[in-house]
Amino acid sequence: MPVNKEAYLQIKKDLDARGIVLVAVSKTRSEEEINELYELGQRDFGENYVQEMVTKAAHLPGDIRWHFIGHLQSNKVKYIAPFVHLVQGIDSPKLLKEINKHAQKNGRTIDCLLQVFIAKEESKFGMDEKELAETMSLSGTFPNTRICGLMGMASFTEDLTIVRKEFQTLKMLFDQMQPQLVSCHSQPVLSMGMSADYLVAVEEGSTMVRIGSLLFGAREPGYHA
Ligand SMILES: *Cc1c(COP(=O)(O)O)cnc(C)c1O
Repeated sequence: MPVNKEAYLQIKKDLDARGIVLVAVSKTRSEEEINELYELGQRDFGENYVQEMVTKAAHLPGDIRWHFIGHLQSNKVKYIAPFVHLVQGIDSPKLLKEINKHAQKNGRTIDCLLQVFIAKEESKFGMDEKELAETMSLSGTFPNTRICGLMGMASFTEDLTIVRKEFQTLKMLFDQMQPQLVSCHSQPVLSMGMSADYLVAVEEGSTMVRIGSLLFGAREPGYHA
């Protein structure tokens, strides 16, 4: 499937103009497809399976910034710790602790986003407000991690008023937590918005969007998450 270069260039230009980071979600896509966007200047790519990200990172240019956007199991942190740019889905203090341990072993600091549960669906991962506060309060004990912001996924629904409300909830939590967040990349990060809802997310204050299908075409049917 050819990469949609025109869509990429247009989306990238619009987001750049607003100072919003575009993460190209390349899960299931070939290294060739990733290279096509790389050659157009794209450097931030998002993956949600550890093995897939490790293999791609080994073969593709070293200046790619790899974002882990999936559900990360503690026992797999070690594989991505040497190179991951941003772990977007922290959903427990236990995971943060594990990341801290492997960051230390690799002599680096790993940037993280806390994932917030904002959708109506049971299947989505993330913390509620109380768990967020707990994790934040422990973050000082993990010196090799930095909590740079929040990430969330809205419900899969065509009703954008629901999606908008969920993004507003996330933005409100983000604003409350701003004083405790580290400005890892010049400003705290609010990662929200995917192909179907990124325009709403941008209107509601997103600073980072994660877009796959609009750039690479639809994924294989039956592929979830
Ligand atoms: C797959 C995925 C995306 C991108 O989805 P598209 O609909 O293809 O844009 C964004 N965020 C997460 C966490 C994902 O798993």
